[in-house]
Amino acid sequence: MWYNGPTMENRTVSPQAEPNEEQIQQSLRPTTWAGYFGQTLVKQNIKILIEAARQREEPLDHILAYGPPGLGKTTLANIIAHEMTVNLKITSGPAIERPGDLAAILTNLLRGDILFIDEIHRMSRAVEEVMYPAMEDFALDIVIGKGSGARSIRLKLPQFTILGATTRLSLLASPLRDRFGSIFRLEFYQPEELAQIVLRSAQILNVPIEPDGALTIAARARGTARIANRLLKRARDFAQVRSDGIITGAVADQALKMLEVDPLGLDILDRKVLHAIIDKFSGGPVGLETIAASISEDSSTVMDVVEPYLLQIGFLDRTPRGRKATPRAYQHLGYTLSDEDDAQPALF
Ligand code: ADP
Repeated sequence: MWYNGPTMENRTVSPQAEPNEEQIQQSLRPTTWAGYFGQTLVKQNIKILIEAARQREEPLDHILAYGPPGLGKTTLANIIAHEMTVNLKITSGPAIERPGDLAAILTNLLRGDILFIDEIHRMSRAVEEVMYPAMEDFALDIVIGKGSGARSIRLKLPQFTILGATTRLSLLASPLRDRFGSIFRLEFYQPEELAQIVLRSAQILNVPIEPDGALTIAARARGTARIANRLLKRARDFAQVRSDGIITGAVADQALKMLEVDPLGLDILDRKVLHAIIDKFSGGPVGLETIAASISEDSSTVMDVVEPYLLQIGFLDRTPRGRKATPRAYQHLGYTLSDEDDAQPALF
């Protein structure tokens, strides 16, 4: 069967940033705690770390934040740097290709500066090796010369802070994980929190919106701040062209219906994954690689951007033998459920 709908890359509810989106996301990114909603526990803990470091007039200890994309890891880095009044340098695991790249970045940092490394689990082993003494002793071991004349010298670095971010904690080598003083897990947002984020973004973008409109968008943003902001922009376009420019509940509802985002925030791709599990693999359990191959998608993308939300809303179970669709998923997709193994599509 040919599929011409949205792909992982262009779907409206993808939690990953679109190619041209970074600039606008940046303008919506709060730089103080006042604009950072939700993640209460993480916020409280980080505020204490910052306060303590400031009192001791010391740089912050290394921090690792993990969780699905779009939940606010980069935003946290911005706020922490702002609060500590230090520079923030942003890079990512795949961007640091060779040990020399990391050395170049580290030698340019000032005392207290924060180096944000997104997708830190994708750093190469060779780069990781350089990272260990850098994080622990603030030192770079450099080998000079070749063969029998080669010698190693140790270069002192200023005391900096690594803020690592990852969507997959389990892929992080444990020696690297152990070098972080604190590890925080970011949670999916509650609809009320996302509604606050939407109202704040609407104000910045100068978009008239009613509380009901914000809640409608929030409910369909699959717990993810980045998606909430993106849906807001789509609703703004719709309100402008098809209505009087104000995002009411009804306007938001119609806009999202047109994008085929259902009331739970699932789009055509989520439904495709669920239908594959139910129709092709009798509801599972089935391995993620197999599911991804059956719908011609990349397994790591399915794992990072489709699965976490389906697990969160109880539509998938993770078992040792693979993923299983739950009765709630069957119901949501309109299957009659006399016996889980014998589900039939409902007749409309
Ligand atoms: P991540 O780094 O986890 O992928 P980002 O920090 O880039 O996510 O956040 C994506 C967008 O969501 C940003 O534009 C930011 O404005 C918004 N955002 C994220 N978390 C929050 C929050 N807690 N409060 C307000 N806006 C947020």
